[in-house]
Parts: sequence; C-alpha cells; structure tokens
Amino acid sequence: MKKVIILGILCVFTGVLSSQDIPPELIPPFIDCETNIPLIDDPQMIQQQDLGTCVNLYGIFNSLGNKFIPSQTQPIIYIRLNLIFLQRDDSTGNFQENNSYEQALINDVISYVNTIYANWVDPNDASCLNGYSFLPNTRIQFVIGNKLFVNDSYGWDNRNDLQTFKCPGSSNWYLNYLDDQIVNNSSVSRGINVYFTEDSQIYDKYVVQQSQDTTFTGDSYSCSQYPDYTNYYRTSKVHMLNKFSIYNWQRYAIPNLSKFNYPEWESIVRYWYIGGTAVNLAHELGHSLGLGHSYICNTLMNPSGGSHNFLPPLEIGKIHAALTFSNLRSFIPIDTYVGIKQINTNETWYNMRLYNSLDISSIASLTSNCDVIMPYQSNIQISGSLTINNSNIQSIQNIWNGIIVKSGGLLVLNNTNISDYNIKVESGGTIHITGNINISGNHNITVESGGYYCFESGVSVELSDYNSIIKLEEDAINGVNPFLSIQSNCISTLTVLPVTGFGSIVDYGQDVYIQNETISTNRYVGGKNIYVGNHVTSSQTTGDVIINNDANVIFDGKDVTFDDGFECVNGSTYEVVNH
Ligand SMILES: [Zn+2]
Repeated sequence: MKKVIILGILCVFTGVLSSQDIPPELIPPFIDCETNIPLIDDPQMIQQQDLGTCVNLYGIFNSLGNKFIPSQTQPIIYIRLNLIFLQRDDSTGNFQENNSYEQALINDVISYVNTIYANWVDPNDASCLNGYSFLPNTRIQFVIGNKLFVNDSYGWDNRNDLQTFKCPGSSNWYLNYLDDQIVNNSSVSRGINVYFTEDSQIYDKYVVQQSQDTTFTGDSYSCSQYPDYTNYYRTSKVHMLNKFSIYNWQRYAIPNLSKFNYPEWESIVRYWYIGGTAVNLAHELGHSLGLGHSYICNTLMNPSGGSHNFLPPLEIGKIHAALTFSNLRSFIPIDTYVGIKQINTNETWYNMRLYNSLDISSIASLTSNCDVIMPYQSNIQISGSLTINNSNIQSIQNIWNGIIVKSGGLLVLNNTNISDYNIKVESGGTIHITGNINISGNHNITVESGGYYCFESGVSVELSDYNSIIKLEEDAINGVNPFLSIQSNCISTLTVLPVTGFGSIVDYGQDVYIQNETISTNRYVGGKNIYVGNHVTSSQTTGDVIINNDANVIFDGKDVTFDDGFECVNGSTYEVVNH
C-alpha cells in the first residue's frame, strides 16, 4: 500500500518539475568530504585486496561492480532511511512533527529522490556508458524507516560542529553521541541516518527575522559517509545543513524577489525546494551507497554542476555490490529477495549478504572461502561445483531452502557448520566431504537414490542434536561420480567414520536390529527395515529393549517391527515414520 502511494506522488512531480527548471543557484553545492576511504588506486587498498581476506572488501566492491549490474526487471531493493530532525530544547527550530504541511514537504523530497534513482536520463553518448547499455532504473528505492525529532539545543546548532565541512564520517563529528544512542535503541530499525541540523545565526536571520536577502548566505551543502567494508555493524550517516532555514528563505523571500521574477511559492518555488533538496540528498546518498565523485556526462555524482540526472551502468552495479559487501547490508529489510542469480563463470567469493538464490551452471565453479548470508526463501542449485572452504553459509534470519546438488553437480564441504539449512544430493550429484563438518539442529544431508557421497579418509563428523541426521537413501552410492574425474580417497564403510554428538547417520539400504539395549536419550533410528525386540537377530545377545528416562525415539524405515521384549517406560515416547 505504501509503495502505491509513493508512486502516485512521483508521477505528479515528474510533470511539474520538468516544466519548472530549478534556478541553478537553488541547487545546493556538492561540497562534501571523501576522506574516509582512500581512492581505488591507493596501494594500501590494492594490497588488502591481494591478501584475499574475507573482509575489507573495498577493492573487491570496486572491481566487481560489473557482476552486480541489475536487470531492469529485478525486484526493487529497498533501503531504510532514518530522518533525524534536531530541535532546540523547547522543540522548536526545525521541521515539526505535528505540522502536516512540513511533513508532506519532507515526504515529497524523499519521493523525489526515489524518482531520480528510478528515472535516469539517457545522455545518448556512448562514451558515458563504458560499453554497457543505458539503464534508466537503479532498482533501488529508499523508504523512511523512522522520523525522529530530538530536542537537543547543542546538537541542533551545527555551529557546534567545528570541522570545515561538518562531515559525519569523522571520528569526532559533533553528533556522534546522538548517533550512538540511536544505533543502540532497539526500537529504531537500522537505516542510513540522515541528520537535519540548523545554524543558529542563519536560523535567526531567515526564520525569525524572515530576511528578504536575494541570496541565501548560510551553508547549503551537505556531507555524507562512505560504506564500511570491514565492520558490517557500523552506522552510516548523512548531514543535511540548514534545510529548514532554506525552506523559510525560499518560501518567504523568493516570491517577493524580482531576481526570480516573483514566483508563487505553492505552484513554483515549493517544487524548486523539493527538487533542489532532493538532488542534494540523492547525491549524498550516492556517497552513502559507495559512489565517489565523477565528472562524466550528467552524472549525479558530479560535484560541480551539470544536470545530475544520469548514473553510468557500472556505477549502478557498484551500488548493488556495496549492498552485498558492506555495512549497507544491515539497512535492507530481512525479507528482501530478488530472484535467481545465474553463475556461469569460475568465482571465488568473500563475506557477502546475498539477495538472490544461486544457480551454479554446469560450466561454473564457485569457491566460498568466507561467510555468505543467504536471503530467506532462497536456495542454491548446483549443476557445476560449489566448494565451501573453512567458512559457513547461513541465512539472514529465517531458515532458507538450502542446497540442492543436481545430476553432474559437485558440493565440496571442507570444514563447515550447517546450522540452518538442509542439503539434498539428487541422482548423479556428488557430495564430497573433505574436512570436518558439524550439523546442528533439525538439519540434515540427504543423498537420494543414485546420488554419490564421499567422506574423505580422516574426516570427522559432529551431529550435534539427535535430529541432526545424514540420510543415505537406498541405492545412494559411496564414491564420487566418476564423470567428475576427481581425486578422492573415500572411506569404504561408514562404520569407521568418527561421529560425535547425538545425531545419526542412517542408511536406508540396511536393515537395523535393536536388541538388548536401554535407550535413555533421544535417538533417531533409521534403516530399510527395523526390528525391535529381545530376539530379533542372532548376531547379538538376547535381551529386552527399553526406552526410559523421558527419551523420545524416532523409528524411520519401510517397515518397523516391534517384537517381544520391547518396553517404553512411562514418560518416554517413540514414533514410527514410514519411510
Ligand atoms: Zn559529493
């Protein structure tokens, strides 16, 4: 519903603004700092990239932008903004929470920022595109997570910010104490924190005195902060200066000024204000999303002029890369999912939050040496190969749909924890376990009939919980699919595999006999046919089977036979699953 309303407003603006060119002097200058992250050619950053570490991915982000250019039909990724209005201790001095006219103005600014990001204008100049096709839509939009109105006379007055350009990325930014409070407030969802502050002297001049100056004399620039590619929990901030004073000057002075030809506020100047403030914020958010300054064509990121209505496709790709590699990941709603990403090349991956399912084609191999976070609803389908190497694949919050190894596909697990997903190996697929693995919770690896499994000699397996199960269906094959031509030294029988924990490896190709045993802890018993009793097999000593101590036992087989000498003591339970 919210989205429908936003789109409705956008259409109105597009029409009005295109017929009302904003006087250039009413578009704030783009003076803002870029000191937090070195430029791409900084040797230190290149060195860090070469180290192949999982974090500090600035160089990676810059070099992989081309792999993240979104299709124009990809679902929109929404990024939360928190708008924070500093007020004086008596609640005055800025846009007011209970003033619906002023709040509509702010909402219109954000809507127009979204219009800008969804409607880039083709410069019709191949040199602007770097060999890519023009893209009209970034496929990201901003949503207002929270509007906060903070009574704080000190913070309200940006004269207390003693830095040259009052940039919020600095370690001694004057509002860092407030940002810490907001980030630590669990009732405020994480978002890019956009601070609106005022200069007390400028406020006095334009709001209190309603000066009829022909030119606004206060600071009208803003400053932003680049993403962090190492600390994913870092905040991101934008500092918007004097926007309330500018609003008052434009509203109460400009309509009286011959310099501007006496334009009416409501039908003309109001749109100048929205457009000028929006393009200013859109540019700052471009920095927040990882983009540096650029002077080509009409790019939004030009700091010194132009129409700011274009973004090169590679820059759009860099934004999406930054959403994957940086702290921006924490500003994206957890239910964000944008469909299936095809992997058709050989890749090595880093610490990432993904927004797609993955389909690894038969010609591709993907090696994950670092932790990858999958979106909910997603899965990974492997027709080529995936190696999870000394790292973990997890989900953003909910359980995801896990990994499916297709015929001809190969999944290599080398030291990993499986804590929130299942793995299924289909006929002709292979799971090759080359390093220790841990499965916890109600999760399992299932090798279907005709699927291959190989536990490399020397590997140990921990199955933490009693329903952490490795399931080998009847006619699952011990070994690696010979089609793959892979060196392996698989153990010949699972009885020699070191297994710890409460879970089980169940082989649905083998009959199971439970005899002469007291089961006192939860257990999962699986097999082809299961026989339970005091004389069901001659290969074990006769004796009763007793389940006690409140244990729950699951018997999972084609046929489960309970013979003489089986007892489930009061308080304990068992259940039969027909496999
Ligand atoms: Zn800038």
